[in-house]
Amino acid sequence: MRVVVSQLPAVGVPVRVGADVPWAAHAVAGALEQPAGLAFHFDLRVDAAAGGARVHGDGEVAHDATCDRCGAPVRCTLGGAVDLLYVPDPGSDAESRDASGSAAAGERALSGDQLDVGFLEAGGILELGAALAEQVVLWAPMRILCTDEGVRPSSGAGCAPRPPAPGDAGPAPGRTRPFAGLRLPE
Ligand SMILES: [Zn+2]
Repeated sequence: MRVVVSQLPAVGVPVRVGADVPWAAHAVAGALEQPAGLAFHFDLRVDAAAGGARVHGDGEVAHDATCDRCGAPVRCTLGGAVDLLYVPDPGSDAESRDASGSAAAGERALSGDQLDVGFLEAGGILELGAALAEQVVLWAPMRILCTDEGVRPSSGAGCAPRPPAPGDAGPAPGRTRPFAGLRLPE
């Protein structure tokens, strides 16, 4: 769902979405690499702020996964407050996207304690699906352990402390950065 920031009403726009909303489901599933048993809801408001838009409220996302330590099936629940700020990209009108450099500078200049700053698309467009995906990635742990808060073993039995097996060097290759290959929807 695309929001033209210059057309936001003064009172803002409420955005309440769950897995029954296709654009939201597509965004959240993509951010978590198509997990099984995905359920979520977001209760957000989009307000004009700082020349751009602020997306704030709260949300919760749950999905099935396996513990990265013991392999037990688990139900993983993520969520909490949402507070994302999107501002016009100072370095581009369309093409020049030196994303990492300008993003770092922008965050230093603008960020509050809990505020994450991103850039609007050309033309002052906020892509709400991309915002949901970004929030989910911010919440997602680097690895899922059944002892973590918000992770519940499906079978009731979780990680038992056990001596590390020889060659048990932590998460399998490729699991340490599960979102390294993530590309947000354009
Ligand atoms: Zn475990």
